[in-house]
Amino acid sequence: MTRSSSVRLLLALALSAAALLPARAADTPGRVAARPPGLAPLPRVTSPRLYVIDCGTLVYNRPEDYQLTREQVADTNMSVPCFLVIHPKGLLLFDTGLSDRLVGRPLWENVDGGYGQIKFNTLRGQLADIGVTPADITYLAISHSHFDHVGNANDYAGSIWLAQKAELDFMFGAGADPAYLPLYSSLAHARKQVFAGDHDVFGDGSVVLKLTPGHTPGHQALYVKLARTGGVVLAGDLYHYAEERPLHRMPKEEESTGTPASREAMERFLREKNAQLWIGHSTAFFRDAIKSPGWYD
Ligand SMILES: [Zn+2]
Repeated sequence: MTRSSSVRLLLALALSAAALLPARAADTPGRVAARPPGLAPLPRVTSPRLYVIDCGTLVYNRPEDYQLTREQVADTNMSVPCFLVIHPKGLLLFDTGLSDRLVGRPLWENVDGGYGQIKFNTLRGQLADIGVTPADITYLAISHSHFDHVGNANDYAGSIWLAQKAELDFMFGAGADPAYLPLYSSLAHARKQVFAGDHDVFGDGSVVLKLTPGHTPGHQALYVKLARTGGVVLAGDLYHYAEERPLHRMPKEEESTGTPASREAMERFLREKNAQLWIGHSTAFFRDAIKSPGWYD
């Protein structure tokens, strides 16, 4: 065999090896085909997009629990949104709302701590309307572990859970509420990134979890920097009723937890970033918001 013929042989081998590549790449269309038929394609973005998703309503008429009177609160019910961020580097689901299993159930079956839970549409179905399946969610984060924020957490245990250390300890420690634990128990086995403090989700400062303890030990809000809308902070339960903010009210028990300090720090952050505060439980916020499958960018 001449030197040139051995080079030709090597070339031929290399080419035939390359010819195998499309066969291996055929795995990818196979995975795409596994998506439910008719599902919209996963949105592709060049800057973050924020979706406001209807995750239920809490029927409640005791604003006194938040040191407000019925005269002060325009609507004592609470909206329950979930939020999806689609970033060029991945997807983040922030809060999972009331359980999808409540859809179609009568109100009297689902009263928890005086809060009646109403749910008209599933989170899973509304994500599908956007073109997103649970398998597409890169990261799951919850503002905190109360039932109206973790109702579907188990469905997203295949994502990477972005967890504040204090909330993780609260959720799985001795003080965990046995009534809520089944809603998120699968997260015990999820891949996790655990931190104590603020966390820059995609490493570019555009999507940042903000530690705001008080309502629960590891409560967190979410800052999203949007190209057209500007900076937005999703408050979680740092506030419930919008009226709490100008009137400086909060549940009595939170006066001695971190809530006052977390609110002060948040006000400074909002000024520094020139950002809006979105209070998810405010029915006025939710009524006026662009709902999914529409979005903010
Ligand atoms: Zn809540």
